[in-house]
Amino acid sequence: MRFTVAIDGPAAAGKGTISKAVAAHFGFAYLDTGLLYRAVGAKVLAGAAPIAAAQTLDPVDLEDDSLRTPQVAQAASEVAAIPEVREALIAFQQSFAAREGGAVLDGRDIGTVICPGADVKLFVTASPVCRAERRFKELSDKGMAVTFDTVLADVKERDARDRSRAAAPLVPAEDAVLLDTSELTVEQAIAAAVGVVTKARI
Ligand code: C5P
Repeated sequence: MRFTVAIDGPAAAGKGTISKAVAAHFGFAYLDTGLLYRAVGAKVLAGAAPIAAAQTLDPVDLEDDSLRTPQVAQAASEVAAIPEVREALIAFQQSFAAREGGAVLDGRDIGTVICPGADVKLFVTASPVCRAERRFKELSDKGMAVTFDTVLADVKERDARDRSRAAAPLVPAEDAVLLDTSELTVEQAIAAAVGVVTKARI
């Protein structure tokens, strides 16, 4: 059985939490595609050339905990604007999406570019302040020295770059279901997403 769930949206909208929960609920595999761009960004920060870094990316590179820092997030969003970098990462994502047993992928262009034929497309959003509050808490809880203002600025800067780039910009697919999580608890957001997927499987 193949079944693909595409979950897109801006930074820190809750995509990861929702995607993991949807994957666990239905027994699907989960791929955080942001990690691919973060891994390339981290290699570039370490001195590599972006396109070569993307072309030689190894799945093991995705397991590094340091990929979660705001510096790597910024570098990820910069390399993500390079068409050849995106091109180099397409085959891996598409073969993950087509795996037997079902797959959930989250990112920015899953429903528009990577899996335009996905069985379910969700576009998860929340207000910038709300997203920055969540990301600030997540990073502070991990012991990172960040301030709310810098996290908010980072989220806004990345969103602006992701939305305005020519290659695969962040935009909802025409047939995506919009889910604004600003006023929802984590449980409510997950229940809404599981509900959308359940309906599509009937
Ligand atoms: O989702 P995450 O915040 O980890 O993504 C980091 C950056 O990677 C994003 O700001 C975006 O520029 C890029 N990205 C992308 N396409 C994806 C996933 C992430 O361009 N499918």
